[in-house]
Amino acid sequence: MKKFRSIQSAINYHKNCPVCFQQMQINDKDLAADYYGDNLDTKSVSFWLDVYQNDILTIHLSNDDVEVTDMVYEIGEHSTFYIPNTRKVGYHGKFLQGMTLDCKICCKFSYTLQVHVDLEIKKLTGIFLNSETLTVEEGSVVHEIKSIYSTKQTEYARFEPGSDKRVNLPLIPLDLKNPEETIKRVKKLIIFS
Ligand SMILES: [Zn+2]
Repeated sequence: MKKFRSIQSAINYHKNCPVCFQQMQINDKDLAADYYGDNLDTKSVSFWLDVYQNDILTIHLSNDDVEVTDMVYEIGEHSTFYIPNTRKVGYHGKFLQGMTLDCKICCKFSYTLQVHVDLEIKKLTGIFLNSETLTVEEGSVVHEIKSIYSTKQTEYARFEPGSDKRVNLPLIPLDLKNPEETIKRVKKLIIFS
């Protein structure tokens, strides 16, 4: 798996979609905090450590600093709200989180990162390229190729009116400059598999 030197460099891995050249965005389904507009200009990313407790892990993009905030639920006179917890529960062990960046314009390219954090020392211990997914249209056929570097497999799906096919193949690195070439390699592998 490709290892990035910082969370910022991982977010910048594909600033623009290789298919339509529009700006990629962090998929906010992975994030604890709302994420606005041109989200590649953000200063930090936050993930849920414990969604029920409202505990959040934040990584600052400028220096990879990790911050853990545990929040408590306060019932006020007119509303309920969260305030930082002074009780300090403390987290231990390793935290592993997926973070996906996709093109929301053409929806033909995305990549997923693995974010590893040591909660004991509150440090980012690694950020890796888990997978890349590319969609290629060929007439009425849609090919979806997901190269998963963590498991060294490519998941290939072919959609066409009236028939969908899915097959797992040995890892095929994506040729993003020449997606048709990647499709050709997939087709050859399918013949021989
Ligand atoms: Zn795109």
